[in-house]
Amino acid sequence: MISFDNLLGAIRTYNPETDADLLHRAYEFSALEHAGQTRRSGEQYITHPLEVARLVAEMHLDDVTIAASLLHDVVEDTLTTIDNVQALFGSEIAHVVEGVTKISTIPFSSSEERQAENFRKMLLAMVDDVRVILVKLADRLHNMRTLGHLREERRLKIAQETIDIYAPIAHRLGMNKVKHELEDLALRHLDPPGYESLRTRVDERRRATERTVDRLKSTLAEKLRQAGVPIVSLEGRIKSVFSIWKKIRRQRTSLDEVYDLIAVRVITDSVRDCYAALGIIHQTWAPVHGRFKDFVAMPRPNGYQSLHTAVISDLGLPFEVQIRTEEMHQVAEEGIAAHWKYKEGRIGADPDEKYFLWLRQLLEWQQEVPDPSEFIHSLKLDLYPEEVYTFTPKGEVKALPRGATPIDFAYAIHTDVGHTCVGARVNGRMVPLRTPLSSGDIVEVVTRAGNRPNRDWLNIVATTRARNRIKHFIHVEEKLRAIELGRKLVEKEIRRFDLKPRAVLDPQAVAEVCTAFSAAKPDDLYASVGYGKVAARAVLDALVPREQRDRQKPEKSIASMVRRVLRPNQGTIKVRGFDDLMVFRAGCCNPIRGEKIVGYVTRGKGVSVHAASCSNVINLFYDPERRIDVAWDKANGESAFTVCLTIQVEDRRGMIADVTSRLADRRIDIREVEASADEDRHGHISVTFDISDMQHLQRVIKVVRGVAGVLDVERVHRKP
Ligand code: MN
Repeated sequence: MISFDNLLGAIRTYNPETDADLLHRAYEFSALEHAGQTRRSGEQYITHPLEVARLVAEMHLDDVTIAASLLHDVVEDTLTTIDNVQALFGSEIAHVVEGVTKISTIPFSSSEERQAENFRKMLLAMVDDVRVILVKLADRLHNMRTLGHLREERRLKIAQETIDIYAPIAHRLGMNKVKHELEDLALRHLDPPGYESLRTRVDERRRATERTVDRLKSTLAEKLRQAGVPIVSLEGRIKSVFSIWKKIRRQRTSLDEVYDLIAVRVITDSVRDCYAALGIIHQTWAPVHGRFKDFVAMPRPNGYQSLHTAVISDLGLPFEVQIRTEEMHQVAEEGIAAHWKYKEGRIGADPDEKYFLWLRQLLEWQQEVPDPSEFIHSLKLDLYPEEVYTFTPKGEVKALPRGATPIDFAYAIHTDVGHTCVGARVNGRMVPLRTPLSSGDIVEVVTRAGNRPNRDWLNIVATTRARNRIKHFIHVEEKLRAIELGRKLVEKEIRRFDLKPRAVLDPQAVAEVCTAFSAAKPDDLYASVGYGKVAARAVLDALVPREQRDRQKPEKSIASMVRRVLRPNQGTIKVRGFDDLMVFRAGCCNPIRGEKIVGYVTRGKGVSVHAASCSNVINLFYDPERRIDVAWDKANGESAFTVCLTIQVEDRRGMIADVTSRLADRRIDIREVEASADEDRHGHISVTFDISDMQHLQRVIKVVRGVAGVLDVERVHRKP
């Protein structure tokens, strides 16, 4: 744990003239005020202000900022007032503390209008004194580092707010180091398994390429030395986990395809040397076309300067190179904080700094934009470089996250436009619905009345709005199907006993038995039957007591037929989104484990599952609206599927024995073999046997193809 003396020591390394007395008083006061309070971790509360002050000291900031860091929570969390702080520590420190306190109480996850207002408040506080936001970012960074101690709900909220608000602000202020750490920490909490697996794989890649990078570095150092280009340092580095994660998502690619994972950074003495080093690098290795960027001549809006290029190493491994001076490097890592560094004889920043210019422009401009939602959208354009700005044919702007598709766009217009969207014209050209949109695209959504969203869209959309609308629609639709299916099942059960469904299913009578099945209303009860949670027979038992019904039609028992069909398939196939819907494999194509399958809700028999290649499916003999997503259940269910192959062979002696013995070698249990021959000396063998899954079948087919004399092998669904 850090002590005040540690902190002071750290400050003295860059500011020997620090006002130790002032800082000590701030520390003592804060410790006294927070006395008795503990952090979630169980530590004394004062460790938090001390750690925040240390982070601020790492940015080499002045005494006012450090004192304010030590005091940043006293007004919010103790009985001390801001007037108190001002009387004890002066107005400058009190001002920063007040700003931090104000920002802390701003709720960000609120309506757009309130959010716009809150952003304004934050901007005002920043323009007023940028040290406010520097302390706030340090505060957030320490809270993110210790986030693990909080309840999950709080954790997720804070992590999301960090991604939405604080990381973009750090980015806009050029504070890359802080930004990257905030993002990585937030991702770790928002998607723990995703973060861990990516980090592990990135570490593996790092280890695997360590030697290569070392060799690259020494070759480069030698070349630069020979050419007389002095360099300050040369380092190999790997991108942050979050930026890799973002890139993988945005470009819909995999880690293996992120080739600029590794970068070599060259720090030079002067701008001239930057360009000289670039020349040497391009002479040594082939540059990747289109990857050279000169942010030295044209700095990024947040002040970032560097030369970027990518080259192909001798091993064919592409890598990125960044070249910059020491000063540029400092700005690249620390951004605005670099300008606020304590410097002898100068405290505070140049008022003409571009950051302030940006903030002032924003504020001036927000006063001209009275509509808060327009303001927030425009602000996001500035804060979130990840957004794309697209237009309706009438010129209305739709801001969407990068990776958004015409479906997101359609839902951004109206839910009904989303639901009925069948295509899109982007800049006048028809494009597939999964096409990612770019800034400036003019998008015209093509709709067709009666069209419905499908489940695949969930993999295509990038906005929460579209995702929620689609999910809701599918949920409602599936419930409707379950109600219909459940009702049919109950009606069939009733007919089995020669009763009249219309009479038995009297709405009042059904409503009365609902509670027994913990259903609120008849439709919920039917849905439970459709989902397979309640047996149709149980509903009948409740409606018509067993004694009152005697005659059961023994034959034509559909329920028992379904049961017979179902039993061997129990648990083999899962219907996505349903726990226990009745499922059976269609007899026409008899799909086997591993095969691509589709399901159809039948009228009353449950869900029939066909092979996607089944001719009945391809020829659309089934109503596409009754289609439902199904998948093979990984662990459970049947282990043997009966299949039939017809094998075209040369008509020669021993042919059948050759085929069957090869199958026996593979431990295949043959159920049936038939053979015939026609006049043109071709034979046909038809074999029926059990296999475990599609892969198994494919292996068997390969084996059969390998038998001498076999001309062709084909799987048939029904024996001819
Ligand atoms: Mn705090």
